[in-house]
Amino acid sequence: MKTEVAPAVVVLGQNSLAVARQIIQVLPTATLYGLANRTTGVDFSFTNFGDTVRGLFIQRTPLIGICAAGILIRTLAPLLCDKQQEPPVLAVAEDGSAVVPLLGGLSGVNEIARHIAQALGVNPAITTTGDLRFRTTLLSPPPGYKLANPEAGKKFISDLLAGSQVRLEGTAPWLINSQLPIHPDGELTIQITERSIKGQGAGGRERGEMTPDSGGAKGLSPPLLFSGSRSGAEPSPLLPAPTSDCLIYHPTTIAIGMGDTTPQEGEVRQLLGETELSPASVAGIFAPLSLAASPEIHAMSRNLGVPARFFPTTQLANFLSQGYTLAQAVALTATGVSGELMSPSSPVAIALAPQPIDPTTIGQPRGRLAIIGTGPGGWQWMSPQVKEILHGATDLVGYKTYLDLIGVLGDGKQRHESDNRQETGRAMFALDLAAEGRYVAVVSSGDPGIYAMAAAVFEVLEQHGKPEWHTIEIQVAPGISAMQAAAAAIGAPLGHDFCAISLSDILKPWAMIEQRIAAAAEADFVIAFYNPVSQARTWQLAQARDILLRYRAPHTPVVVARNLGRPGQMVKVITLDQLTPDVADMRTVILVGSSQTRQFPRQDGGIWVYTPRRYSG
Ligand code: SAH
Repeated sequence: MKTEVAPAVVVLGQNSLAVARQIIQVLPTATLYGLANRTTGVDFSFTNFGDTVRGLFIQRTPLIGICAAGILIRTLAPLLCDKQQEPPVLAVAEDGSAVVPLLGGLSGVNEIARHIAQALGVNPAITTTGDLRFRTTLLSPPPGYKLANPEAGKKFISDLLAGSQVRLEGTAPWLINSQLPIHPDGELTIQITERSIKGQGAGGRERGEMTPDSGGAKGLSPPLLFSGSRSGAEPSPLLPAPTSDCLIYHPTTIAIGMGDTTPQEGEVRQLLGETELSPASVAGIFAPLSLAASPEIHAMSRNLGVPARFFPTTQLANFLSQGYTLAQAVALTATGVSGELMSPSSPVAIALAPQPIDPTTIGQPRGRLAIIGTGPGGWQWMSPQVKEILHGATDLVGYKTYLDLIGVLGDGKQRHESDNRQETGRAMFALDLAAEGRYVAVVSSGDPGIYAMAAAVFEVLEQHGKPEWHTIEIQVAPGISAMQAAAAAIGAPLGHDFCAISLSDILKPWAMIEQRIAAAAEADFVIAFYNPVSQARTWQLAQARDILLRYRAPHTPVVVARNLGRPGQMVKVITLDQLTPDVADMRTVILVGSSQTRQFPRQDGGIWVYTPRRYSG
């Protein structure tokens, strides 16, 4: 099930986690909020329940509290003033035995309650009379329908409850299958139409007048159903402004198709106006995959509040071979063969489907590739941005150890594990996957731009770029690098100028590494050594130390930090002349102090190391 804003599931203790996870299974976009110190393995930790819940409510985030209903009621009470603006709020019992919709009757709370209750195997505690009596929530229609005049809802429903009958104009299976008192002579009316109503600024056209196959989807010279001034046809009258006796639903049956150029949003709106169709009936903006990076298309999709979906050329071949323009082929591919073209040939085509279109099942979204750094250890060092990406991603690509570090945040995603050394192949694989419309997270430990995958992705993108790779939205999300975590654990050794050098000579010759160490030592940088040793490489660290000793005193402080943020974390301070390969392994980062780096004892027996920000001269 989908809600427009990702819901928040809020837990106050670890005992609630099992039920929370069952709920997230059926609301996969939900974010798990947990009280700090009482919960682990959540997406976001909070310390103040009231501020967090009120903040989410104000942002209209659907809220599912695994807690007593009373807690939510008391927390939100000061904010309850406009039921039109309320997000869905539900209380769920910690043992999953009760699902209580509390607020948000107009934003689908009962639907969410039914959904969660079904997953938990219980009956939802629905208390809304209209909903119970008519088995449908007129004020929050199912996906595929938008209520054009919610302000009429209150009187309409009270008339229904008082015994009025309702006449249905147009088709909507959810209404026919409800227990509404439908009667051809009903004094109330429900209209299902793509037509604009007065006040929306555009005319419209009656869906009921069309037969599904009357359009031009099949012939070689497509007959088009036009209306409006462009075609010269008599425009149908505007739908009169609705009264409180009439509810109007716009079905999302309109596909807007783009050709090989992107028109401005104004042109699209004008075309909708000319064809007398309501923007509220637009199901999606559809375009060839080559336009997936077009900012205009994404702006249009945002402004109309509908998804942008794309077709690879192969999916358009059928309609193109029948003589349709590219834009028409796109629009008709979105509606299917029973769609009808509603506009004359232009850079944009509008097609109407006989049923609401579910855009999430048509074509593909713009692919996304996020190159993320999870920090050196567990979730507490992951940025909120990285957690959010992990939340939304469909696929995770990375070295197995790094994917394991993500823990439960990786649940339910396709994992593509690989060898740590296959960087180029992994980057190409991830780009190919994203080009299919997936949301791929390439996972590195630490920071993704520091001896990690980000550079590999950009290298293959520049040097082997397939055209479809350039349609992908690419984002780099930083992480805490091992040297920062090491520095924080011991004080502030990176407090002044510093540099990082990888001692691995797999990707660069040792002579170059030697030269860099000497130059950095001479310049008096603090040096962070990454990849200091591995099973196959042990001598480099000893050589590095010998070079350093030519420039630095033997008692220079050296921080050796292993398994930062992970089980077995060890941070110790030695002197430069004690730096031997056996103090380090592949999970160790080493910080060698400059001539200014200082150390002094802590009260607890440990030691602080820092590099002052000022050179004394
Ligand atoms: N992108 C990573 C670095 C990857 S290179 C980052 O920004 O941290 C791998 C090297 O990073 C290791 O050989 C080690 O030197 C260092 N490293 C990574 N994780 C570490 C950890 N948890 N503790 C100590 N060193 C770590």
